[in-house]
Amino acid sequence: MIKDLPQFNDIMPDKIVLALQEILADNLKILDTQDLSHPIEVLEIIENRLHKFWSPISHLHAVHDTPALREAYNSCLPLLSDYETTISHHEKLYQAICRYQPKNSYEKRIIELKLRDFRLSGIALSAEKKLRYGEIEKKLSELGARFSENILDSTQAWSYVASDQELIGIPKDIIPEDKKLTLDYPCYSAVQKYAEDRSLREKCYQAYVTRASDLNDLKYDNTEIMQNILSLKYELAEILGFKNYAELSLETKMAKSSDQVLDFLDKLVAHAKPAAQKELKELAEFAGHELAPWDVAFYGEKLSQKKYHSHQELFRPYFPAEYVLSGLFSLVSQLYNLNFKKINNTEVWDAEVSCFEIIDQHQKLRGIFYVDLYTRKQKREGAWMDDYCSRYKKPDGELQIPVAYLTCNFMRPQKDQPGLLTHDDVMTLFHEFGHGLHHLLTTIDYIDISGINGVPWDAVELPSQFMENFCWEKSILKKLSKHYQTNESLPDDLINNLLASRHFNAGLQLLRQLEFGLFDFYLHLKKPENKDYVLNLFRETHNKTAVMPAPDYLRFPHTFSHIFNGGYSAAYYSYLWAEVLSCDVFSLFEENGVLDAKTGQKFLNQLLSQGGSQPPEILFKNFRGREPDQTAFLKSWGLMQ
Ligand SMILES: [Zn+2]
Repeated sequence: MIKDLPQFNDIMPDKIVLALQEILADNLKILDTQDLSHPIEVLEIIENRLHKFWSPISHLHAVHDTPALREAYNSCLPLLSDYETTISHHEKLYQAICRYQPKNSYEKRIIELKLRDFRLSGIALSAEKKLRYGEIEKKLSELGARFSENILDSTQAWSYVASDQELIGIPKDIIPEDKKLTLDYPCYSAVQKYAEDRSLREKCYQAYVTRASDLNDLKYDNTEIMQNILSLKYELAEILGFKNYAELSLETKMAKSSDQVLDFLDKLVAHAKPAAQKELKELAEFAGHELAPWDVAFYGEKLSQKKYHSHQELFRPYFPAEYVLSGLFSLVSQLYNLNFKKINNTEVWDAEVSCFEIIDQHQKLRGIFYVDLYTRKQKREGAWMDDYCSRYKKPDGELQIPVAYLTCNFMRPQKDQPGLLTHDDVMTLFHEFGHGLHHLLTTIDYIDISGINGVPWDAVELPSQFMENFCWEKSILKKLSKHYQTNESLPDDLINNLLASRHFNAGLQLLRQLEFGLFDFYLHLKKPENKDYVLNLFRETHNKTAVMPAPDYLRFPHTFSHIFNGGYSAAYYSYLWAEVLSCDVFSLFEENGVLDAKTGQKFLNQLLSQGGSQPPEILFKNFRGREPDQTAFLKSWGLMQ
């Protein structure tokens, strides 16, 4: 039995709140009473203890929820948030960190990051400004929650009972029994993709893009909330001494300035727009008439089927989940010279969960991870990587081995067949595994900068998106696939169709992401003058970037949760930013052979294992020998030869 892994069976919901209260109180007592002459060491001890207590609880809440656990979990959230506020305003700790003389470059980096976070939490402000800062934070979290509630309520307020005639084209298993169409995404997108009835598509489109707006039930209107959120964010940035909220956002990102972000997005628009225009023209010719927004998904689906016949479902028989997983292990073993070993007798939250060790070429244990592949009741949807603990050298010299959970929601095995994956699923698995490797293969001994810790938001997707690239290599697809009945690997024609379809309507898709990225960034550059600010700015951005005119009633901003109730304010660009980095990293593998072990070692040593120990631009440059370049990204989107 490996020591120090989470004991899931010992988690008793009725004991959680009290146990958490004790840890939090004790942590604060340590900070209040102990000598903080080595603040990093003290913080590591208390943060590590708290994280290892809370992580299995929050993980179980996500993958194996029960009413009692949920109740305990929810009671803990305010305690944790109060605790974090106390720490981020802890004057004695702050002073200790200001005074501390770092002993090496790692400590220097940690102190830099800590001081930055203290500054952004308003610790150095006057009492009056601190008070206002607190008010704004509270108000923002209330407004964000209301923003999302309005979307939910207004989504649920709409439904339409369609006639059989109107439903023609939509796959039977998607249509609800009572034929009542809703604006839930799976239903909405199926109508847009498959409904032959053009006016039905338009009806649903109009309802969908006017949710939570002035054109619908006014009690769910987000217009004023958006303006208030933006004003408060602007004020917050001013209080902290920034020119606007965008500059505040960039303080914790790899991108250095607003100009750099706008320039980055503008350059990509210049490539995507002509491609999107061409794609739209081809689509209109295929349709035989001019296209409206509610035609694009419909004819896109039809044209793609006609050209590539590469429906995702065709791939399932060739990708048994367990087989793909072992193929992924051998690919990574080859790249980084590692071994994966399944370990039994560890406690897991469900019998179908497996646990693995990663052993390196020197026979050292580098990390441990759990894999939970399939959908289950009481499991949250989506796929993600989360960590139980980070690599950390304790004051007594003992090394804590990093541990992670990989969670997916793939289709369950059936009576007569194993769990089978689509090509999209395979990419999801690779993506999350990339996050896992980033966390587990680190060689940094300090919690705050080991693995994924201390890595800026616009760079943290680099290792995960990097892994996706392997899923577009013919030789690798061959190795990953094995028909669950015939044992055949993927036939050439299926692979060729898949590769050919990769860039279908890529210009249109990329342009949409760029429009959102630009709109988000513009929004946070200025103080909103009036209630039309948001919509006007959206129209301006749309007219500049998009290739198809938007109907006057389009109210996209009113449901843009990423930025109004998420962490993506002035940060939506970061998805594309990280993808440019990951493609550029992969291009060196393409140059040297995609499975070249030497390039793999270089990537592992200079970037993947380095966590947040240095700014990502430096790690990137160490590996690539130059600044990031958009070429490889544009090629991967088929926008450059
Ligand atoms: Zn990710």
